[in-house]
Amino acid sequence: MRGIDALPVFPVTAHALPQGHLEVGGVDLVDLARDHGTPLYVFDEETILSVARDYQRAFETRYPADVRVVYACKAFANVSLVRLLSEEGLGFDVVSGGEMAVIEAADAPPGGVYFHGNNKSAQELEQAVAAGIGRIVIDSAHEIDLLEDVLERMDRRQEVLFRVSPGVDPHTHSHTTTGVLDSKFGLPIQTGQAEEAIVRVLTSRRLIPVGLHFHLGSPIFELEPYAQAINVTLDFAALMKARHGFEMREFSPGGGFAVRYLVSDEAPATDAYAQAICSALVEGCASRGLDLPMLSVEPGRVIVGRAGVALYTVGAIKEIPDVRIFVAVDGGMGDNIRPAIYDSHYEAALASRMADAAATTVTIAGKYCESGDILVRDCALPATEPGDLVAIPVSGAYCLAMSSNYNASPRPEVLLVKDGQARLIRRRETYQDLLAPDMV
Ligand code: PLP
Repeated sequence: MRGIDALPVFPVTAHALPQGHLEVGGVDLVDLARDHGTPLYVFDEETILSVARDYQRAFETRYPADVRVVYACKAFANVSLVRLLSEEGLGFDVVSGGEMAVIEAADAPPGGVYFHGNNKSAQELEQAVAAGIGRIVIDSAHEIDLLEDVLERMDRRQEVLFRVSPGVDPHTHSHTTTGVLDSKFGLPIQTGQAEEAIVRVLTSRRLIPVGLHFHLGSPIFELEPYAQAINVTLDFAALMKARHGFEMREFSPGGGFAVRYLVSDEAPATDAYAQAICSALVEGCASRGLDLPMLSVEPGRVIVGRAGVALYTVGAIKEIPDVRIFVAVDGGMGDNIRPAIYDSHYEAALASRMADAAATTVTIAGKYCESGDILVRDCALPATEPGDLVAIPVSGAYCLAMSSNYNASPRPEVLLVKDGQARLIRRRETYQDLLAPDMV
């Protein structure tokens, strides 16, 4: 494959310049890497905004009641990014006190923030209540106890959603499947634990029950699991209304919307997800005599995935005759652990020779001390030499977010590009950053 054949999975503004360089957001990435060093992560603002707006449009035009698009910032939590999305009117899903701190640093309105997680601490719950967070999403009976204590101490009340587990398999990687019965997430409907939680909260002086939420997994390439899980959840909502007078005023089918990682992947369009979810919800509520709840959706990966490009410089090239050519780059599992833990696949291109035909099949290895530190296995590249610049598309979601300082490696710099300008949104870490917490 030539680099230009992979352009459909690079950001929407990506193209090859006449001399063969990859340009994104009007910026030549070869120049950018020369000036800023590698590994380097580049995010394209236009791609982020176009996807965010597409999600708002697709759901708002199909759903006759209120809609809120909530960015699941576990995909990539960064202050500038949160500010950008907040200005677009998105809310935020956080799963830790740390992500909440990012939201607060970005001055995003706390009312649009949803606090998820299967084991929130009392301290995090306190932080959320003190910040005036919109919704806490209850994940266990234990959390109800903790939250009641916190609210009692603070003399506050708090709106909550219940994360239910509908028992539907979205057919994704087992590590990212969450809505089945055997999952650490959510209150199972099937076992009666979701009902018990609702009954408890209905009589609470402090917790205000607002609605139901599920999240099936990620990435979900099929539409049917959403419709199926919505029907299971609406059956449950109708039952809870009849038995206990519970009113589902808000409903969320979570996130999980897929992106194309490979040119050969086929991911449903935004409109297809919106159509499947909105029609199942509208028809399902009508047939059960339920009022239409507010609909919140929580895309993470799809908002930032395609926008991100990872740039690496080639170092050692090791050819093992009749076996494999390893092309080692200056990053790897420290900034992108997805291939190692999810067996994720990526395209790759040489950013300075986008139009050149492939000459060899190579395996792009990282620089970390693990045999499993392979970024792309068996990928076709033009003849590659030390110093070449490798670009890996669709690196915006769950790469930096899951990055580590393994091998005491500083994390990369991050730039946001738009209209020919590159803005630093996260500086490269230094050895001083790494050593700061050590007692010397
Ligand atoms: N909502 C919840 C509750 C999640 O747990 C996740 C991901 O784990 C998401 C939303 C976002 O998923 P995705 O990034 O696949 O859209």
